[in-house]
Amino acid sequence: MVALTQYALSSLAELESAERGTLGREVACQLLGSSDEVLPALLACAQRVRARFKPGIVTYSRKVFIPLTNLCRDYCGYCTFRRDPGQPGAHTMTPDEVMEVVSAGEHLGCTEALFSLGDKPELLFPEMRDTLRRLGYKSTLQYLEAMCERVLRESSLLPHPNPGLMSKEWLRRLARVSPSMGLMLETTSSRLLAHDAAHDNAPDKEPAKRLRVIEDAGRQKIPFTTGILIGIGETIEERVHALLAIRDLHERYGHIQEVIIQNFRAKPATPMANWPEPDRTDMLRTLAVARLMMPKMNLQAPPNLSDPHYADLLDAGINDWGGVSPLTPDFINPEKPWPHLDELRKRTGAKGFALKQRLPVYPEFMAQAAAHSNELAQRLDTARDPEGYARRAA
Ligand code: SF4
Repeated sequence: MVALTQYALSSLAELESAERGTLGREVACQLLGSSDEVLPALLACAQRVRARFKPGIVTYSRKVFIPLTNLCRDYCGYCTFRRDPGQPGAHTMTPDEVMEVVSAGEHLGCTEALFSLGDKPELLFPEMRDTLRRLGYKSTLQYLEAMCERVLRESSLLPHPNPGLMSKEWLRRLARVSPSMGLMLETTSSRLLAHDAAHDNAPDKEPAKRLRVIEDAGRQKIPFTTGILIGIGETIEERVHALLAIRDLHERYGHIQEVIIQNFRAKPATPMANWPEPDRTDMLRTLAVARLMMPKMNLQAPPNLSDPHYADLLDAGINDWGGVSPLTPDFINPEKPWPHLDELRKRTGAKGFALKQRLPVYPEFMAQAAAHSNELAQRLDTARDPEGYARRAA
């Protein structure tokens, strides 16, 4: 940790008074590497910037989590979600299983069906090709599209798919059946693809490929969720570089509806089981710097990955908790249960914010989403309240 230079301190002061200030690379790196003594000043600044953006409310999306398949052709060093065919727990959901979860979620007031799945498993595993053939589809993305369409047509939930890399054509097709979608950038460091690094043997985590998808989504004006995963071996400069890449893409295309800052958590029986986790102050500092870099973008951090101190994340300028499920576990981080929604509301309220249920697409991106198909436009009309939040908020 280094003390803040006079330059960074004066930049912070300038930011506080600037109506539309954004933080550049050099000061962002200095703030990210600053000592704990200056953390309170940094957090106070982030809170003031956040208050100019969306005062008084913090949003969340009430969702069910649908792990359509946990087969994946990548082998990220921190992942406990993925399986090879035949491993205990390996599973591809059937359409009936998907609709059962959706129906249970409807009864609990959920408005989002989050599809999370491994990346193109059929390219590596003949077993997945067989499964898809039995289900009547040629690829995982085609199966996903059909399930999103079914959720849209047969339930009150709105799909939000997270399927990994996609071509322009698949972005276009999925945007017709889902109001928003996501792909975590995670990092722009291709160093992490090296032997024994976090993305060793994870070809879909090549940063250039992920940036290409996010840019293609921007060209098609698809409301898009992305973010970074901190603490997987990136340097401070690389972390800032990834945030700048996201900001730049949003400045060019105006489509990034939220930026997630996710903290790495070490999981047993993974190659990174003994890797150090980012501590609380690292997370707070990163969130505050991200807020100052992106003063008018939705900034999200998952509460379950910072339990029991997750409410402190509000001190760093976030305005969204992401998807929280009253029904399904976080299959990506199964050891970290979602906070109970009443508790989330209480703790958010204690920090001075009202908790508000949003749809998977944020109000300000609703028009972009509706432009992709008439069916979607009609469903969004039914699902939204006059301000663009969830009409049937639980
Ligand atoms: S993090 Fe995603 S891409 Fe990486 S192994 Fe797990 S499921 Fe596959």
